[in-house]
Amino acid sequence: MSELDPTFAAEIVKYGATHFNACYNCGNCTAVCNLSEQHADFPRMFIRYGLIGQRNKIVDSQEIWLCYACGDCSETCPRQAYPGEYMAALRRYTIAHAEKTGLTKLLFTNNPLFIVITLIIALVLGFLLLTIEPEEVISRWLFTYIPYEVIHNLGIAVFILTGITTGLGIFALIKKLSGQRSSNPDKPTTSFSWSKTLMAIQKVGMEIAAMKRYQECDKEDDSLWKHRPWLIKPWFVHWSIMWGFIGLVVATVLDFIFKDPATVMWLPSRILGTVTGILLMYGTTLAMIYRIRKITKSYADSKLADWAFLIFLWVAGFTGFWLEIAVMSGEHELINQIVFFIHTVISMELIIFFAYSKFAHAVYRPLALYFYFKNREPVSAT
Ligand code: SF4
Ligand code: SF4
Repeated sequence: MSELDPTFAAEIVKYGATHFNACYNCGNCTAVCNLSEQHADFPRMFIRYGLIGQRNKIVDSQEIWLCYACGDCSETCPRQAYPGEYMAALRRYTIAHAEKTGLTKLLFTNNPLFIVITLIIALVLGFLLLTIEPEEVISRWLFTYIPYEVIHNLGIAVFILTGITTGLGIFALIKKLSGQRSSNPDKPTTSFSWSKTLMAIQKVGMEIAAMKRYQECDKEDDSLWKHRPWLIKPWFVHWSIMWGFIGLVVATVLDFIFKDPATVMWLPSRILGTVTGILLMYGTTLAMIYRIRKITKSYADSKLADWAFLIFLWVAGFTGFWLEIAVMSGEHELINQIVFFIHTVISMELIIFFAYSKFAHAVYRPLALYFYFKNREPVSAT
């Protein structure tokens, strides 16, 4: 049985790992990485796996999700092998590997196709929206050319198809993450234990709440961020985007359930939406500025998928605020309807592309952390 695939190294280059074969295995990157703990020998070991074609060691691993792409390792690599970017490429590859339709692979590796598919899906979703307002002038005009049922059923089919593949992708990855051994060879898979399970849930909860592990990054003396205020540090930018998005989803659901009267802005759901919307805008704006300015190596090599994710979130946040102001002022101009249309299509695309984009890490990272913490021997064990 051979686990080695000689074509693997060339394959992951397509996902953005363009310099990793310059690595000469010195180990600096692992030494500098504050997240590479006792038994998690990354990123060095994973570069080794990539070079010799050990695909399964990578796609079955929990450790590649422990990395936050801070780029400390890339800053210190003497060979410019960009190990941080390599880890990000491995996560893209793993997301694509778990999603079996092949769409994710196309989206991550073919930029022109990425743009075309995004536009086509936006068009389908836009048409689907029009079927919800069949009496609108534009809807009636459109339905004279394409029957209402065709548009409506196509939109529903897109949602069902993407829903099924999302579910299958997540299920496949959960199976891998839960059923595998850690890449540490001398650590056996442990049997079920309530105390370890609760401890792992608690640790993941704390990580989601405060990003304690991400805060461990950028502490090297020569790190650009070491003496900068926490408000602009990458961990807080990431935290703002994550909590901004979660808050907006909760606010939208609450608005929908309670059918908020349009002009009341002091309802808890509205306040939550406003505060978390500001967080989302703050985080995405800073992340885009860092990428435009290529402020560190981790921001210097952005892929279209990274940009698309940030731009979608930013536009969803911006149009959301626009609509809130429009609702407050009672305006119902055409421009507001167009903004509403864009906001809804972008939001639906974010949901639809969940399994096919960088967004998938929002599920895969907490899961990997959970299984990693759960199967890990306590540090103090004899
Ligand atoms: S990626 Fe760079 S720092 Fe890490 S082992 Fe290879 S050469 Fe050394
Ligand atoms: S990018 Fe940061 S977290 Fe990831 S391996 Fe490098 S130093 Fe560690």
